Amino acid sequence: MAQSSGRTAKIWRDGELVDWADANIHVLSHVVHYGSAVFEGMRSYETPSGGAVFRLRDHMRRLQDSCNIYELPLKWSVDELCAATVETLIANELAECYLRPIVIRTGEQMGIYAQNDPAETFIICWNWGKSYLPHVQPQGGANVCVSTWRRAAPNTFPAMAKASGNYLNAQLAKMESIRNGYDEAIMLDIDGHVAEGSGQNLFIVRDGVLFTSPIAAGILHGITRDSVNRIAADLGIPVKEMVIPREMLYVVDEAFFCGTAVEVTPVVSIDKHKLGGGKPGPITTKIRDRFMEIARGRVPDPYGWLTSFPVAAATR
Ligand code: PMP
Repeated sequence: MAQSSGRTAKIWRDGELVDWADANIHVLSHVVHYGSAVFEGMRSYETPSGGAVFRLRDHMRRLQDSCNIYELPLKWSVDELCAATVETLIANELAECYLRPIVIRTGEQMGIYAQNDPAETFIICWNWGKSYLPHVQPQGGANVCVSTWRRAAPNTFPAMAKASGNYLNAQLAKMESIRNGYDEAIMLDIDGHVAEGSGQNLFIVRDGVLFTSPIAAGILHGITRDSVNRIAADLGIPVKEMVIPREMLYVVDEAFFCGTAVEVTPVVSIDKHKLGGGKPGPITTKIRDRFMEIARGRVPDPYGWLTSFPVAAATR
């Protein structure tokens, strides 16, 4: 079996902690054929007082919303899912990792309509040792392009659901960007306005003001995006949510991606147009530093974003 360094010992499967190798499903599962899964991506950080999951409740609430949109019968409440996440982290003796809760339609029936098939819930811990954008150095930034692939149009694939199927065209955008020598792609919406990255939201900065696209631009309403909005407001940096024309990307002073996997990652060029001096800008750096300090518990958390849990001494 292919081994991957990110594996951890135990996976939570509908109330049981099972060994990594036993968290299997049947090939005829509905999800394999029809993409019927919704998921979350969260992070747990090592803090001075143990582990802490960042915005756990907000992620589990979005998971519940995604299930509601796709009529997946989630067996667990938000509180139960939060408790299960902490239980899984403690069982794996992990302070810091990436977390992937996922609800999948399984069963062994052929056909699209599957309301009688079960929806199974898993919570997976993953040791994501390297940066999500591997070529981006800690003090550097991403070189990105505008993808030829658009985000799904309104009333096609619901963008507010974090559904596995949404990542089919995200894969096309990502592969195209890597093939053409970039780190990541920015996708436009159906009308040609700026939407977001293949798996992260986007902010741009001009004349000291932060701009980001509205939810109606076919973006996922990211939890990191919301965190950036709140941090910026408290730092006195104005934020405008507005429809962004593509060409604005080429004349901004700064830009950055944000999301659970990328955290806050500066963008230093778009379609080979250098932004600012081709280095992370001061507003990006200020927001990134504040975000990481809160997530890592190095400053008091004024927002109640951290769910702390104890970690075995040997792992710290
Ligand atoms: N957009 C997309 C398409 C994503 O996959 C993600 C990652 N979940 C985000 C934005 C950022 O969302 P969050 O900050 O909640 O991780």
